[in-house]
Amino acid sequence: MNIKAPKGTKDILPSEIRNWQHIEKTANDIFSRADFKEIRTPIFEDTCLFERGVGDTTDIVNKEMYTFIKSDRSLTLRPENTAGVVRAYLEHNFYRESPPVKLWYKGPMFRYERPQAGRQRQFHQIGVEMFGIQDASADAECIMLAVEFLKALGLNDLTVEINSLGCNICRREYKDRLKKAIAPFLNELCEDCQNRYEKNPLRILDCKNENCTKLFEKYNLKETVSGIELCPECSEHYNKLKTYLTALNIKYTENTFLVRGLDYYTKTVFEIKSNNLGSQNAVCGGGRYDGLVELLGGPATPAVGWAMGVERINSLIPQVNSYKIKFFVVSDNQLEAFKLVSKLRQQGISADFDYNARKFAKQLEKASKIAEYAIILGEEEIKNNYFTVKKLSDSSQEKMDFEDIIKL
Ligand code: ATP
Ligand code: MG
Repeated sequence: MNIKAPKGTKDILPSEIRNWQHIEKTANDIFSRADFKEIRTPIFEDTCLFERGVGDTTDIVNKEMYTFIKSDRSLTLRPENTAGVVRAYLEHNFYRESPPVKLWYKGPMFRYERPQAGRQRQFHQIGVEMFGIQDASADAECIMLAVEFLKALGLNDLTVEINSLGCNICRREYKDRLKKAIAPFLNELCEDCQNRYEKNPLRILDCKNENCTKLFEKYNLKETVSGIELCPECSEHYNKLKTYLTALNIKYTENTFLVRGLDYYTKTVFEIKSNNLGSQNAVCGGGRYDGLVELLGGPATPAVGWAMGVERINSLIPQVNSYKIKFFVVSDNQLEAFKLVSKLRQQGISADFDYNARKFAKQLEKASKIAEYAIILGEEEIKNNYFTVKKLSDSSQEKMDFEDIIKL
Protein backbone atom coordinates (compact mmCIF):
# COMPACT_ATOMS: atom_id res chain seq x y z
CA MET A 1 0.00 0.00 0.00
CA ASN A 2 1.35 3.40 -0.88
CA ILE A 3 -0.96 5.98 0.56
CA LYS A 4 -0.12 9.59 -0.15
CA ALA A 5 -1.77 12.85 0.91
CA PRO A 6 -4.76 13.48 -1.38
CA LYS A 7 -4.12 15.47 -4.55
CA GLY A 8 -4.17 19.19 -3.85
CA THR A 9 -3.37 18.82 -0.14
CA LYS A 10 -0.05 19.29 1.60
CA ASP A 11 1.50 18.35 4.90
CA ILE A 12 2.91 21.32 6.75
CA LEU A 13 6.11 19.82 8.08
CA PRO A 14 7.96 20.61 11.33
CA SER A 15 10.67 22.23 9.20
CA GLU A 16 8.09 24.69 7.84
CA ILE A 17 6.02 25.29 10.93
CA ARG A 18 7.89 28.30 12.28
CA ASN A 19 6.74 30.40 9.36
CA TRP A 20 3.14 29.35 9.94
CA GLN A 21 3.37 30.10 13.64
CA HIS A 22 4.94 33.46 12.87
CA ILE A 23 2.20 34.36 10.38
CA GLU A 24 -0.54 33.36 12.82
CA LYS A 25 1.06 35.18 15.74
CA THR A 26 1.52 38.32 13.64
CA ALA A 27 -2.15 38.14 12.65
CA ASN A 28 -3.19 37.87 16.28
CA ASP A 29 -0.94 40.80 17.29
CA ILE A 30 -2.00 43.13 14.49
CA PHE A 31 -5.72 42.35 14.66
CA SER A 32 -5.91 42.46 18.49
CA ARG A 33 -4.41 45.94 18.39
CA ALA A 34 -7.47 47.02 16.41
CA ASP A 35 -9.76 45.08 18.80
CA PHE A 36 -10.67 42.32 16.33
CA LYS A 37 -11.52 39.13 18.23
CA GLU A 38 -10.75 35.66 16.93
CA ILE A 39 -13.63 33.32 16.14
CA ARG A 40 -13.39 29.61 15.23
CA THR A 41 -16.32 28.11 13.38
CA PRO A 42 -16.80 24.47 12.31
CA ILE A 43 -14.92 23.15 9.30
CA PHE A 44 -18.17 21.77 7.89
CA GLU A 45 -21.56 23.43 7.76
CA ASP A 46 -24.98 22.70 6.29
CA THR A 47 -24.62 22.80 2.51
CA CYS A 48 -27.47 25.30 2.18
CA LEU A 49 -25.44 27.89 4.11
CA PHE A 50 -22.95 28.08 1.24
CA GLU A 51 -25.57 27.71 -1.48
CA ARG A 52 -27.31 30.76 -0.09
CA GLY A 53 -24.38 32.62 1.43
CA VAL A 54 -21.77 32.23 -1.29
CA GLY A 55 -24.28 32.15 -4.10
CA ASP A 56 -25.45 29.36 -6.38
CA THR A 57 -24.11 31.04 -9.51
CA THR A 58 -20.52 30.98 -8.27
CA ASP A 59 -17.83 28.49 -9.29
CA ILE A 60 -17.31 27.72 -5.63
CA VAL A 61 -20.85 26.44 -5.17
CA ASN A 62 -21.31 24.96 -8.63
CA LYS A 63 -18.05 23.10 -9.03
CA GLU A 64 -15.76 23.34 -6.05
CA MET A 65 -17.59 22.15 -2.96
CA TYR A 66 -16.78 18.98 -1.03
CA THR A 67 -20.26 17.86 -0.12
CA PHE A 68 -21.31 14.69 1.68
CA ILE A 69 -24.47 13.26 3.18
CA LYS A 70 -24.75 12.06 6.77
CA SER A 71 -28.09 11.00 8.26
CA ASP A 72 -29.95 12.51 5.32
CA ARG A 73 -28.27 15.82 5.94
CA SER A 74 -26.16 17.47 3.29
CA LEU A 75 -22.95 18.87 4.73
CA THR A 76 -20.07 20.70 3.05
CA LEU A 77 -16.44 21.32 3.98
CA ARG A 78 -16.21 25.09 4.13
CA PRO A 79 -14.87 26.60 0.90
CA GLU A 80 -14.54 29.99 2.65
CA ASN A 81 -15.34 31.33 6.09
CA THR A 82 -17.49 34.43 5.66
CA ALA A 83 -20.72 32.45 5.47
CA GLY A 84 -19.78 30.48 8.60
CA VAL A 85 -18.89 33.64 10.51
CA VAL A 86 -22.19 35.27 9.53
CA ARG A 87 -24.04 32.12 10.60
CA ALA A 88 -22.31 32.26 14.00
CA TYR A 89 -22.92 36.02 14.26
CA LEU A 90 -26.65 35.35 13.90
CA GLU A 91 -26.76 32.20 15.99
CA HIS A 92 -25.16 34.00 18.95
CA ASN A 93 -27.11 37.24 18.51
CA PHE A 94 -24.00 39.36 17.99
CA TYR A 95 -26.18 41.88 16.19
CA ARG A 96 -27.60 42.89 19.58
CA GLU A 97 -24.17 44.24 20.58
CA SER A 98 -23.41 47.84 19.87
CA PRO A 99 -21.64 48.00 16.50
CA PRO A 100 -19.08 47.38 15.26
CA VAL A 101 -18.58 43.69 15.84
CA LYS A 102 -15.02 42.94 14.68
CA LEU A 103 -13.97 39.34 14.11
CA TRP A 104 -11.04 37.49 12.57
CA TYR A 105 -10.37 33.84 11.75
CA LYS A 106 -7.73 31.48 10.48
CA GLY A 107 -7.96 27.94 9.23
CA PRO A 108 -8.24 25.45 6.39
CA MET A 109 -10.68 25.87 3.50
CA PHE A 110 -11.60 23.27 0.89
CA ARG A 111 -12.23 23.77 -2.81
CA TYR A 112 -12.23 21.16 -5.53
CA GLU A 113 -10.03 23.06 -7.99
CA ARG A 114 -7.29 22.10 -10.40
CA PRO A 115 -4.16 22.04 -8.24
CA GLN A 116 -1.29 24.19 -9.51
CA ALA A 117 1.30 26.57 -8.06
CA GLY A 118 -0.56 28.73 -5.52
CA ARG A 119 -3.75 26.71 -5.84
CA GLN A 120 -4.59 23.77 -3.60
CA ARG A 121 -7.70 21.83 -2.66
CA GLN A 122 -7.09 22.23 1.04
CA PHE A 123 -5.57 25.65 1.64
CA HIS A 124 -5.59 28.12 4.49
CA GLN A 125 -7.06 31.53 4.89
CA ILE A 126 -6.75 34.28 7.43
CA GLY A 127 -9.59 36.77 7.29
CA VAL A 128 -11.39 39.59 9.04
CA GLU A 129 -15.07 40.57 9.09
CA MET A 130 -16.47 43.81 10.47
CA PHE A 131 -20.21 44.13 11.06
CA GLY A 132 -22.52 47.06 11.65
CA ILE A 133 -20.78 50.05 10.06
CA GLN A 134 -22.03 51.58 6.84
CA ASP A 135 -19.46 54.38 6.77
CA ALA A 136 -16.47 53.92 4.48
CA SER A 137 -14.20 54.17 7.54
CA ALA A 138 -14.95 50.47 8.08
CA ASP A 139 -13.80 49.63 4.55
CA ALA A 140 -10.67 51.72 5.11
CA GLU A 141 -10.01 50.03 8.46
CA CYS A 142 -10.19 46.58 6.85
CA ILE A 143 -7.87 47.54 4.00
CA MET A 144 -5.49 49.17 6.47
CA LEU A 145 -5.41 46.02 8.61
CA ALA A 146 -4.57 43.88 5.59
CA VAL A 147 -1.76 46.22 4.57
CA GLU A 148 -0.38 46.46 8.12
CA PHE A 149 -0.46 42.70 8.51
CA LEU A 150 1.40 42.17 5.25
CA LYS A 151 3.90 44.91 6.14
CA ALA A 152 4.52 43.32 9.53
CA LEU A 153 5.45 40.16 7.62
CA GLY A 154 7.94 42.19 5.60
CA LEU A 155 5.85 42.30 2.42
CA ASN A 156 5.99 45.72 0.84
CA ASP A 157 6.02 44.96 -2.86
CA LEU A 158 2.25 44.71 -3.11
CA THR A 159 -0.45 46.56 -4.98
CA VAL A 160 -3.80 47.41 -3.44
CA GLU A 161 -6.49 47.58 -6.10
CA ILE A 162 -9.87 49.03 -5.26
CA ASN A 163 -13.17 49.46 -7.02
CA SER A 164 -16.81 50.00 -6.21
CA LEU A 165 -19.49 47.69 -7.56
CA GLY A 166 -22.18 50.06 -6.36
CA CYS A 167 -25.61 48.88 -5.35
CA ASN A 168 -28.24 46.96 -7.30
CA ILE A 169 -29.41 50.14 -8.97
CA CYS A 170 -25.95 51.13 -10.25
CA ARG A 171 -25.30 47.60 -11.34
CA ARG A 172 -28.46 47.12 -13.37
CA GLU A 173 -27.45 49.70 -15.96
CA TYR A 174 -23.87 48.45 -15.98
CA LYS A 175 -24.89 44.82 -16.53
CA ASP A 176 -26.91 45.85 -19.58
CA ARG A 177 -24.02 47.84 -20.97
CA LEU A 178 -21.63 44.97 -20.38
CA LYS A 179 -23.93 42.43 -21.99
CA LYS A 180 -24.28 44.58 -25.09
CA ALA A 181 -20.51 44.89 -25.39
CA ILE A 182 -20.00 41.15 -24.95
CA ALA A 183 -22.82 39.98 -27.22
CA PRO A 184 -20.80 40.17 -30.48
CA PHE A 185 -18.25 37.60 -29.27
CA LEU A 186 -20.25 35.72 -26.66
CA ASN A 187 -20.14 32.44 -28.56
CA GLU A 188 -16.33 32.56 -28.60
CA LEU A 189 -16.11 32.76 -24.80
CA CYS A 190 -15.71 29.75 -22.52
CA GLU A 191 -18.70 27.74 -21.36
CA ASP A 192 -18.55 29.30 -17.89
CA CYS A 193 -18.74 32.80 -19.34
CA GLN A 194 -21.66 31.80 -21.52
CA ASN A 195 -23.49 30.64 -18.40
CA ARG A 196 -22.53 33.79 -16.51
CA TYR A 197 -23.88 36.00 -19.29
CA GLU A 198 -27.48 35.80 -18.11
CA LYS A 199 -27.00 34.88 -14.47
CA ASN A 200 -24.17 37.20 -13.47
CA PRO A 201 -22.49 39.00 -16.38
CA LEU A 202 -20.21 41.02 -14.07
CA ARG A 203 -18.29 37.91 -13.25
CA ILE A 204 -17.25 37.46 -16.86
CA LEU A 205 -14.70 40.20 -16.12
CA ASP A 206 -13.16 37.90 -13.50
CA CYS A 207 -12.67 34.98 -15.92
CA LYS A 208 -9.26 33.34 -15.61
CA ASN A 209 -9.51 31.53 -18.97
CA GLU A 210 -6.64 32.72 -21.19
CA ASN A 211 -8.67 32.61 -24.34
CA CYS A 212 -11.38 34.78 -22.78
CA THR A 213 -8.84 37.34 -21.55
CA LYS A 214 -7.39 37.51 -25.05
CA LEU A 215 -10.85 38.04 -26.52
CA PHE A 216 -11.53 40.88 -24.09
CA GLU A 217 -8.40 42.57 -25.43
CA LYS A 218 -9.13 41.78 -29.05
CA TYR A 219 -12.60 43.30 -28.79
CA ASN A 220 -11.45 46.20 -26.61
CA LEU A 221 -14.03 45.23 -24.04
CA LYS A 222 -12.71 47.47 -21.29
CA GLU A 223 -12.60 50.58 -23.46
CA THR A 224 -16.06 49.85 -24.85
CA VAL A 225 -17.88 49.44 -21.56
CA SER A 226 -15.69 51.65 -19.32
CA GLY A 227 -16.49 51.31 -15.62
CA ILE A 228 -19.65 51.21 -13.57
CA GLU A 229 -21.52 54.49 -13.13
CA LEU A 230 -22.23 54.94 -9.46
CA CYS A 231 -25.39 56.50 -8.05
CA PRO A 232 -24.83 59.56 -5.81
CA GLU A 233 -24.88 57.54 -2.59
CA CYS A 234 -22.46 54.85 -3.82
CA SER A 235 -20.27 57.49 -5.37
CA GLU A 236 -20.04 59.41 -2.11
CA HIS A 237 -19.18 56.20 -0.26
CA TYR A 238 -16.41 55.39 -2.72
CA ASN A 239 -14.98 58.92 -2.60
CA LYS A 240 -14.98 58.80 1.16
CA LEU A 241 -13.05 55.53 1.09
CA LYS A 242 -10.41 57.10 -1.15
CA THR A 243 -10.16 60.12 1.16
CA TYR A 244 -9.61 57.83 4.16
CA LEU A 245 -7.00 55.72 2.38
CA THR A 246 -5.08 58.79 1.25
CA ALA A 247 -5.23 60.28 4.76
CA LEU A 248 -3.97 56.98 6.20
CA ASN A 249 -1.11 56.89 3.70
CA ILE A 250 -2.28 53.71 2.04
CA LYS A 251 -1.31 53.60 -1.60
CA TYR A 252 -3.91 52.16 -3.92
CA THR A 253 -4.73 51.96 -7.59
CA GLU A 254 -8.22 52.06 -8.97
CA ASN A 255 -9.17 49.14 -11.16
CA THR A 256 -12.58 49.85 -12.64
CA PHE A 257 -12.81 46.24 -13.81
CA LEU A 258 -12.13 44.60 -10.50
CA VAL A 259 -15.00 42.30 -9.61
CA ARG A 260 -14.88 39.53 -7.05
CA GLY A 261 -15.88 35.93 -7.56
CA LEU A 262 -18.63 35.97 -4.98
CA ASP A 263 -22.19 37.14 -5.47
CA TYR A 264 -22.65 39.06 -2.28
CA TYR A 265 -20.37 42.04 -2.75
CA THR A 266 -21.79 45.56 -2.77
CA LYS A 267 -19.97 48.87 -3.08
CA THR A 268 -16.29 48.44 -2.15
CA VAL A 269 -14.27 45.56 -3.55
CA PHE A 270 -10.49 45.25 -3.29
CA GLU A 271 -7.66 42.90 -3.98
CA ILE A 272 -4.04 42.90 -2.91
CA LYS A 273 -1.68 41.50 -5.50
CA SER A 274 1.97 40.59 -5.44
CA ASN A 275 4.29 41.11 -8.36
CA ASN A 276 6.24 38.00 -7.38
CA LEU A 277 3.61 35.27 -7.58
CA GLY A 278 3.12 34.50 -11.26
CA SER A 279 -0.43 33.93 -12.41
CA GLN A 280 -1.98 33.17 -8.99
CA ASN A 281 -0.97 36.66 -7.89
CA ALA A 282 -3.81 37.62 -5.52
CA VAL A 283 -2.91 37.32 -1.86
CA CYS A 284 -5.99 39.02 -0.47
CA GLY A 285 -9.51 39.64 -1.67
CA GLY A 286 -12.39 41.34 0.01
CA GLY A 287 -15.04 43.97 0.06
CA ARG A 288 -18.34 45.11 1.43
CA TYR A 289 -21.29 42.73 1.62
CA ASP A 290 -24.19 44.71 2.97
CA GLY A 291 -26.81 42.19 1.86
CA LEU A 292 -25.40 38.97 3.28
CA VAL A 293 -26.55 39.07 6.90
CA GLU A 294 -30.12 39.71 5.80
CA LEU A 295 -29.87 37.07 3.08
CA LEU A 296 -28.98 34.54 5.79
CA GLY A 297 -32.00 35.47 7.88
CA GLY A 298 -30.72 38.30 10.09
CA PRO A 299 -31.52 41.99 10.35
CA ALA A 300 -30.16 44.21 7.56
CA THR A 301 -26.55 44.74 8.64
CA PRO A 302 -23.75 46.42 6.73
CA ALA A 303 -20.52 44.41 6.71
CA VAL A 304 -17.08 44.39 5.18
CA GLY A 305 -14.18 41.94 5.26
CA TRP A 306 -11.42 40.11 3.44
CA ALA A 307 -9.65 36.78 3.19
CA MET A 308 -5.99 36.06 2.50
CA GLY A 309 -4.37 32.93 1.19
CA VAL A 310 -1.79 31.84 3.76
CA GLU A 311 0.12 29.54 1.36
CA ARG A 312 0.55 32.45 -1.04
CA ILE A 313 1.74 34.79 1.74
CA ASN A 314 4.08 32.10 3.01
CA SER A 315 5.66 31.63 -0.40
CA LEU A 316 6.58 35.33 -0.36
CA ILE A 317 8.34 35.46 2.99
CA PRO A 318 11.79 34.05 3.75
CA GLN A 319 11.74 30.56 5.24
CA VAL A 320 12.93 30.37 8.84
CA ASN A 321 14.52 27.15 10.01
CA SER A 322 12.94 25.16 12.78
CA TYR A 323 13.75 26.17 16.34
CA LYS A 324 16.86 24.91 18.07
CA ILE A 325 16.46 23.80 21.64
CA LYS A 326 18.74 25.44 24.21
CA PHE A 327 20.50 22.42 25.71
CA PHE A 328 21.31 18.86 24.74
CA VAL A 329 22.67 16.81 27.60
CA VAL A 330 25.48 14.51 26.51
CA SER A 331 26.03 11.68 28.96
CA ASP A 332 26.40 7.91 29.30
CA ASN A 333 24.38 8.08 32.48
CA GLN A 334 20.77 8.19 31.23
CA LEU A 335 19.28 8.63 34.67
CA GLU A 336 21.40 11.70 35.54
CA ALA A 337 20.85 13.14 32.07
CA PHE A 338 17.11 12.62 32.30
CA LYS A 339 17.02 14.28 35.75
CA LEU A 340 18.96 17.29 34.50
CA VAL A 341 16.72 17.66 31.44
CA SER A 342 13.67 17.53 33.66
CA LYS A 343 15.13 20.16 36.02
CA LEU A 344 15.90 22.49 33.10
CA ARG A 345 12.45 22.08 31.58
CA GLN A 346 10.89 22.93 34.94
CA GLN A 347 12.81 26.22 34.77
CA GLY A 348 11.10 26.89 31.44
CA ILE A 349 14.23 26.05 29.44
CA SER A 350 14.15 23.68 26.45
CA ALA A 351 16.36 20.63 26.82
CA ASP A 352 16.70 17.07 25.60
CA PHE A 353 19.06 14.09 25.85
CA ASP A 354 19.94 10.84 24.16
CA TYR A 355 17.41 8.18 25.10
CA ASN A 356 19.76 5.44 23.94
CA ALA A 357 22.95 6.74 25.58
CA ARG A 358 24.94 6.27 22.38
CA LYS A 359 28.65 7.07 22.10
CA PHE A 360 29.64 10.63 23.08
CA ALA A 361 30.63 11.48 19.50
CA LYS A 362 27.20 10.52 18.21
CA GLN A 363 25.47 12.48 20.96
CA LEU A 364 27.58 15.56 20.22
CA GLU A 365 26.78 15.27 16.54
CA LYS A 366 23.06 15.21 17.34
CA ALA A 367 23.49 18.10 19.79
CA SER A 368 25.13 20.32 17.20
CA LYS A 369 22.18 19.79 14.87
CA ILE A 370 19.36 20.53 17.27
CA ALA A 371 20.69 22.59 20.20
CA GLU A 372 22.56 25.77 21.04
CA TYR A 373 24.63 24.20 23.83
CA ALA A 374 25.74 20.72 24.77
CA ILE A 375 25.93 20.02 28.49
CA ILE A 376 28.50 17.31 29.01
CA LEU A 377 27.78 15.18 32.00
CA GLY A 378 30.53 12.58 32.24
CA GLU A 379 31.79 10.63 35.24
CA GLU A 380 34.12 13.48 36.29
CA GLU A 381 31.34 16.00 36.18
CA ILE A 382 28.90 13.86 38.14
CA LYS A 383 31.51 13.06 40.79
CA ASN A 384 32.61 16.67 41.24
CA ASN A 385 29.20 18.23 40.81
CA TYR A 386 29.78 20.52 37.84
CA PHE A 387 28.86 20.63 34.14
CA THR A 388 30.96 21.17 31.05
CA VAL A 389 29.00 23.42 28.74
CA LYS A 390 29.95 23.57 25.08
CA LYS A 391 28.67 26.39 22.91
CA LEU A 392 27.96 24.61 19.67
CA SER A 393 28.28 27.61 17.35
CA ASP A 394 31.99 28.11 18.18
CA SER A 395 32.88 24.96 20.18
CA SER A 396 34.05 27.03 23.17
CA GLN A 397 33.82 25.16 26.49
CA GLU A 398 33.35 26.24 30.09
CA LYS A 399 32.83 24.60 33.48
CA MET A 400 29.60 25.72 35.09
CA ASP A 401 27.16 24.97 37.87
CA PHE A 402 23.38 24.81 37.47
CA GLU A 403 22.87 28.46 38.44
CA ASP A 404 25.25 29.56 35.63
CA ILE A 405 23.55 27.32 33.11
CA ILE A 406 20.08 28.68 33.61
CA LYS A 407 21.39 32.20 33.08
CA LEU A 408 22.72 31.34 29.61
P1 ATP B 1 -8.56 33.29 -7.18
O1 ATP B 1 -8.99 34.40 -8.06
O2 ATP B 1 -7.06 33.19 -7.01
O3 ATP B 1 -9.21 31.97 -7.46
P2 ATP B 1 -10.61 33.77 -5.31
O4 ATP B 1 -11.26 34.96 -5.85
O5 ATP B 1 -11.21 32.43 -5.52
O6 ATP B 1 -9.08 33.72 -5.77
P3 ATP B 1 -11.15 34.30 -2.54
O7 ATP B 1 -12.24 33.33 -2.47
O8 ATP B 1 -11.45 35.74 -2.46
O9 ATP B 1 -10.25 33.97 -3.80
O10 ATP B 1 -10.04 33.95 -1.45
C1 ATP B 1 -9.13 34.91 -0.95
C2 ATP B 1 -7.71 34.46 -1.12
O11 ATP B 1 -7.55 33.08 -0.80
C3 ATP B 1 -7.18 34.54 -2.54
O12 ATP B 1 -6.76 35.85 -2.83
C4 ATP B 1 -6.03 33.58 -2.51
O13 ATP B 1 -4.88 34.18 -1.95
C5 ATP B 1 -6.52 32.51 -1.58
N1 ATP B 1 -7.02 31.34 -2.31
C6 ATP B 1 -8.23 31.17 -2.91
N2 ATP B 1 -8.35 29.95 -3.44
C7 ATP B 1 -7.18 29.30 -3.18
C8 ATP B 1 -6.68 27.98 -3.45
N3 ATP B 1 -7.42 27.09 -4.10
N4 ATP B 1 -5.44 27.66 -3.05
C9 ATP B 1 -4.68 28.56 -2.37
N5 ATP B 1 -5.09 29.81 -2.06
C10 ATP B 1 -6.32 30.18 -2.46
MG1 MG C 1 -11.06 30.97 -7.00
